[in-house]
Amino acid sequence: MSPFPKTTVLGYPRIGPRRELKRALESYWDGRSSRAELERVGAEIRERTWHRLAELGLEGLPSNTFSLYDQVLDTAVLLGAVPARYREAGDPYFAMARGTEGLAPLRMTKWFDTNYHYIVPEIGPDTVFKLDAAKPLSEVREARALGYETRPVVVGPVTFLLLGSALERLDDVLACYEELLSALAAEGVSWVQLDEPALVGDRTAEELAAVRAAYSRLGSLTTRPGLFVASYFGDLGEALPVLAETPVEAIGIDLVRGAVPVLDLTGKTVVAGVVSGRDVWRTSPDRALAALGAVRASEVVVSTSCSLLHVPYDVEAEPELDPALKERLAFAEQKVAEVVALARSPLRDTPHTAPSVALPAPVVPEERSPYAVRAAAQAEHLRLPALPITTIGSFPQTGSLRAARAAVASGTLSQAGYEQQVEAEIERVIRVQERLGLDVLVHGEPERNDMVQYFAEHLDGFAVTRNGWVQSYGSRCTRPPILHGDVGRPSPITVRWTTYAQSLTDKPVKGMLTGPVTIVAWSFVRDDLPLRDVVFQVADAVREEVRDLEAAGVSVIQVDEPALRELLPLRRAAQADYLEWAVAAYRRATSGAGDRTQIHTHLCYSDADQILAAIDGLDADVTTIESARSGARILGTVGAFGRGLGPGVYDIHSPRVPAASEVEDLLRRTLAVLPAERVWVNPDCGLKTRTYEEVEASLANVVTATRRVRADL
Ligand code: GLN
Ligand code: ZN
Repeated sequence: MSPFPKTTVLGYPRIGPRRELKRALESYWDGRSSRAELERVGAEIRERTWHRLAELGLEGLPSNTFSLYDQVLDTAVLLGAVPARYREAGDPYFAMARGTEGLAPLRMTKWFDTNYHYIVPEIGPDTVFKLDAAKPLSEVREARALGYETRPVVVGPVTFLLLGSALERLDDVLACYEELLSALAAEGVSWVQLDEPALVGDRTAEELAAVRAAYSRLGSLTTRPGLFVASYFGDLGEALPVLAETPVEAIGIDLVRGAVPVLDLTGKTVVAGVVSGRDVWRTSPDRALAALGAVRASEVVVSTSCSLLHVPYDVEAEPELDPALKERLAFAEQKVAEVVALARSPLRDTPHTAPSVALPAPVVPEERSPYAVRAAAQAEHLRLPALPITTIGSFPQTGSLRAARAAVASGTLSQAGYEQQVEAEIERVIRVQERLGLDVLVHGEPERNDMVQYFAEHLDGFAVTRNGWVQSYGSRCTRPPILHGDVGRPSPITVRWTTYAQSLTDKPVKGMLTGPVTIVAWSFVRDDLPLRDVVFQVADAVREEVRDLEAAGVSVIQVDEPALRELLPLRRAAQADYLEWAVAAYRRATSGAGDRTQIHTHLCYSDADQILAAIDGLDADVTTIESARSGARILGTVGAFGRGLGPGVYDIHSPRVPAASEVEDLLRRTLAVLPAERVWVNPDCGLKTRTYEEVEASLANVVTATRRVRADL
């Protein structure tokens, strides 16, 4: 077996430095180009990546890290786990990813604690696993034709089955993995990377036994490439000794999130993830070299802590960033260069001790009265009808608004001209809601490009990028802001738009803010302060905005926290502490409001049983939450909420207009478990991805349904 190369990365961005893949996908989906054209763009991205990695001096090049949509979906295809109903579709791969006219797509959910979304494998007792190794084999050949020997990367059997909740099928999938290893060996591949991020979470004894069984069996194959099992996003914990006892030759360890293992790994190669794949900061060479020096193994390879999929391509594509900040930044290209440089530096044996920060928890001012007192003050002040109808904030983002923002950026539209257009849109949104008969109105968020970036652009301590795109799912990318310094709010951000909207109507207009946890979760965050302290800084900025909105006469203020669950630590032992400070930060952001100001919060999901208590702990007067899409599951657990609750009455993720009778049915079911005076009526989420036509038709039915139910109260 040839030795593992001295340097590598676990994966690389694949959307293209100028989002070439996004454009090619959308063009193919719209029927404007062929599948062959899409494949050609994919091949170009792969070729460019391999050339670039080699040019930067990286030795161990990965392959099969490219994907037309998602690597977990690719693994399902590799193993033949394509549900029968998709097989007849014109393009089964994209039918699974996105659905077709008559077929719903497979479920999609977040990849561990990242903002990347994968397609959940659908595995049943009847799933017949059958290897289809075309993709990894063709990438190996493609790279070889360019002069590069590569290491194919595949999601490992344990993680794949855990994601599909089907670990009992281990024996069956292992047969496919064995076949894959033989095929790769026959192709002359010397190493394969099996990704097992699921091993950094809490695993039962049974699951650990599955790890032992899987890698003992794969390791005992006589003709196979070297086995490199990669873990990332945290410490392997009790899974490390299990893996170490199997015949796998190399183990990947995340030394950014996790600690240097105490275990002596002599006999193994350790692929040491010392360059973070989860942030945009330069690596401290002292810290990295000390970690590398402390690992006890036969070989130590310098690598990234996880795939670089989660960072943008290149800092040099950001001419507008402050040079002093740029000095501190490393995107994918710079991180590869760091890996190479670290392998060339002499190791240091100064043991690194992380500063243990046990600062006292920041104070949460408790100015608000108990809920009953607040509810009475709000009822008196707002005088809302029973079952008040509201929306989650955004109205359709029109093409002309996006074009106007681009025109301001390129200097062809003045700021004043843009603001006029935003005001015209706000007026339209207000009139639509008045005509439909909603009770608590919103201004529609037309001035916001994104619910986090907009605030980042108006707060001190943040920078935004021009090309810093990161794949979120399929063709969808986000440009996370960079939170690099102390956060401050130099002046009010939303007050002028909310008060303008309020000036147009006698109905209450709800102010709309993004919560501190969500702003931080969807940004790249400085790593020189504990996350908690950064979140509290943002909470203080939100708190100032809440106070200013209130002082300007806004009586209902929504502070969205859709990312509350996302930052939940993977290990249960760390979750309670996180939830405690996350809830405290939210309360710090909102508790400056007086009793008669009604605080709303919104979360996009309700299937998070472990955080329901935390959502309740936010102490918002009204919580709006996803419900329609999940078949009103929330209604089973709703007893936890002692305050206002708006379980969404229809799913905004689909263009379908709900019938009034459906909404009525859901409302009646809600009233069976909650007292009417606490029930709100609203959609599942914001309306920005829908058209006005869909929104108006849907909301009209919501109003009709609500009036019918009110008549029976
Ligand atoms: N207020 C935001 C909107 O309506 C909330 C979006 C979200 O929940 N992700 O768009
Ligand atoms: Zn939502």
